[in-house]
Amino acid sequence: MDDTSSRFGGGSVCGIGAEVNVGHVAATAVDPEGRMRGEFRKDIDLGSLPPAEAIQRLAEVVGTLLGALGGDTRVAGITVGVPGLVDADHDRVVLAPDLGWRDIRLGEALAAALLTRGHDAVPVRVDNEADLAALAELDRVRRTASGTESSTAHETDDMLVVFGVAGVGGGLIADGRLVRGHRGWAGEIGHMTVEPHGRPCTCGRVGCWQTTIGLRALLAAAADPDDPVQDPALILDELLSVLVARAGAGDSRTVTALERVGAWLATGIAPLVSALDPGRVVLGGYFAALGEWLAPVVRRELDAALLVPQAGGTHVAISELGLAAAQRGGGLAALESVPTRSHGTRPAGLAPNGGTR
Ligand SMILES: [Zn+2]
Repeated sequence: MDDTSSRFGGGSVCGIGAEVNVGHVAATAVDPEGRMRGEFRKDIDLGSLPPAEAIQRLAEVVGTLLGALGGDTRVAGITVGVPGLVDADHDRVVLAPDLGWRDIRLGEALAAALLTRGHDAVPVRVDNEADLAALAELDRVRRTASGTESSTAHETDDMLVVFGVAGVGGGLIADGRLVRGHRGWAGEIGHMTVEPHGRPCTCGRVGCWQTTIGLRALLAAAADPDDPVQDPALILDELLSVLVARAGAGDSRTVTALERVGAWLATGIAPLVSALDPGRVVLGGYFAALGEWLAPVVRRELDAALLVPQAGGTHVAISELGLAAAQRGGGLAALESVPTRSHGTRPAGLAPNGGTR
């Protein structure tokens, strides 16, 4: 499938957030005021491509964006979000089971591919996509609440973002800062075992949380194998539109499948809420598109599962950034090297020590 969508506009300085995922590569330009200045995406089955070829496709999309931004825009850097374990010090993908990638020097390879295509040298960093999504969610709330006494801003100081595409990752904010963990791998919650004798996972084990709530799990419950929504060539936005339309029309199989995924979401979120006590849990990625049906189930099941009623005061929210959150977070992270030009223009919460290193 070769479906490239785009949106862009000029500006003086931008950070670029790129994304590699199972069904697409994408790149977004963000300016220091948090505005999206350009966006390109190519829907493509990366599972069928060797990593070197996938990186060339990513370079094409990033290159198209660089070309569209034009010479009057200075690009501060590129941060690539990946669904898996990242060695951020070396911009290396350690393991990304859903992509089938292990030990890939992605930062170096993308920088080289861009130079080969005639683009100027730009710093390329690599980060976990759910961590980038969490930074974008934090930034959005802080910008919205800037200058106001907002309870929303307060609850996002301790926040868990559950970011679902084909796989599922988590981004955790504590005291207004991103939690990285000892090796930088905090938040690999999609591979928590929730069904010891459950379905096989891309990581080689069985019963991981993402086998119950990832997009493929939803599709398996919502449609027969010969249903058009099961076509791997269908792009993600179209697929989600079909599911939203069916759920909106009250299709019982779709609604039942969403109830099931919502209940499994709560099964994994409940112990995380007990352990971390976040002010807010954000349903991001594909969960956001179907949040109208998933969030009420999650809230109901959390109320039943937790010691303290009403989810212990944790607010279950639907991301307004959806699938674009990781790219947006990548763009904001790339802007960290840009000096603050005026009060309030620094992406909130990204530095110091809340950033990507
Ligand atoms: Zn797994």
